[in-house]
Amino acid sequence: MQVIITASHSLCRAKNDKLCDRQTSEIAKKLESKLNSEMNIEPIVYLSTAYRDQMDLNRKISRETIWRKQITKDITNALEDDKISHIIVFDIHSFSNGFGKEAKIVILNNLLSQKEGSQLYKTLLNHDVPGIKMLIGSDKNDIQLEIEHMDQHYSKQIDTLLLEFSDTLSNDELQKIFDAIIKNLKDKTTSSCCLM
Ligand SMILES: [Zn+2]
Repeated sequence: MQVIITASHSLCRAKNDKLCDRQTSEIAKKLESKLNSEMNIEPIVYLSTAYRDQMDLNRKISRETIWRKQITKDITNALEDDKISHIIVFDIHSFSNGFGKEAKIVILNNLLSQKEGSQLYKTLLNHDVPGIKMLIGSDKNDIQLEIEHMDQHYSKQIDTLLLEFSDTLSNDELQKIFDAIIKNLKDKTTSSCCLM
């Protein structure tokens, strides 16, 4: 399984920078080490290399940047690699407000990733994660848009999830979310084991 974690707004100018996603570099690193220790997966992590007001790496205009080109290159490599059966891209963001007071974790689905989003939503509910929301995302989230047709001529599928984490999440809540993510990834590997 190839897991790719993108944090396109993770570069902040200061602690109180309101334009960036203040928690995502830390969340990305924590998710990376959790996947590593619990599933022996080594994700590729993309932290932002540009300030959002200079270049929004999750918009169409940034497709020609080295940062975006490297992501599509890694996905192409994973598609071509027969040893890799699943490709999962987590595009992660964080918010301080904007999704309502109660929101802790928001799954933003675009039309093509709705299945993955709904599956994770159910698993989060089962893990007693508070404040889960699932919304239809904006079509400006270009990382998902660019990659989700890349698997057309391959026998494997790219799954994508766009997740917004609240800046106020406790570590306990974050671990519950990770546990749900890991449960889903494990289900994915076992469900396909016997069909092949
Ligand atoms: Zn963001």
